[in-house]
Amino acid sequence: MIVVMKKGATSQEIGEVIRRVEQAGYEAHLSQGVERTIIGIIGDGRPLSGDNISLWPGVERALPILKPFKLASRDFHPQDTVVPINGVKIGGQEIVVMAGPCAVESREQIHETAQALKTSGVKILRGGAFKPRTSPYDFQGLGKEGLRLLRQVKEEFDLLVVTEVMSPGDIELVAQYGDILQIGARNMQNFSLLHAVGETRYPILLKRGMSSTIEELLMAAEYILSRGNQRVILCERGIRTFENYTRNTFDISAIPALKSLTHLPVVADPSHATGRWELVAAVARAAVAAGADGLLIEVHPHPEEALSDGAQSLTPERFACLMEELRRVAKAVGRSLSGKGTDAT
Ligand code: PEP
Ligand code: MN
Repeated sequence: MIVVMKKGATSQEIGEVIRRVEQAGYEAHLSQGVERTIIGIIGDGRPLSGDNISLWPGVERALPILKPFKLASRDFHPQDTVVPINGVKIGGQEIVVMAGPCAVESREQIHETAQALKTSGVKILRGGAFKPRTSPYDFQGLGKEGLRLLRQVKEEFDLLVVTEVMSPGDIELVAQYGDILQIGARNMQNFSLLHAVGETRYPILLKRGMSSTIEELLMAAEYILSRGNQRVILCERGIRTFENYTRNTFDISAIPALKSLTHLPVVADPSHATGRWELVAAVARAAVAAGADGLLIEVHPHPEEALSDGAQSLTPERFACLMEELRRVAKAVGRSLSGKGTDAT
């Protein structure tokens, strides 16, 4: 149920609605827009009975949210959510590119990548230290050493870092080194992990499960939001279909669909979506044209030597060309690209 307050409802009236809702044993979640306040009432499915909420002081109307996701829904929060992270805003007018290797492999590798990305205007470096690999015999990431290497280059080049967390016990460790915690496709429905990051206030990049529907992705986000963490960024990274020329099938329509269903920022990962570096640029451009708020792109200084996902990694040179193309596409759809050159085009 959402309670739409009248324009100009007083803070006492808002406070009184929250008090009554909580007294009845429900949670009240506030969404304060420029014009009006909306209060989401979340319970365990029992109807809030006995009272005609639309007659309460300051209330304009009360209506049910028919969708299964509530706090993630645009009905509850009509305006776009912008997630600010140490000076970078995700979900605003600027499209934010996060780039870097699949995994941190060595000091030289992450240093060379970060240096090149900084020159291209990137503000957020990606790199896995804890890697969820299909095979237990494949490189699993450098763990804490990988996090340390990320922090060194983060400080040297003044970058933010997005890196994956795989278990609730690692959240605090990963958050000491990274600015955004990534929940990978394989963990999208790891509910104890979702609950645990929901209890924090760290920004979360939530990737779509490889066989998950749009609604399941939004329900996963709802787990995080319902614990009070509003800093959720969604990521379309391709889904599994019968097609096997590409690693996954990029679901481009998920971008406008998500943008209409939810207020949360939506980014796209053309690297895992395609699995082939030669397709990454076209899919990245398409994602920006479709309304993505950002991109997550794998870049490796020597893709042929990469310990994971070399086939889908761009070289820094190819990535630099792509950034220029993306700048033009962004401009064509009324957006800009973060970083260097923003004013020049
Ligand atoms: C990744 O970003 O490195 C990754 C493992 O992606 P996904 O979880 O989408 O497969
Ligand atoms: Mn990868």
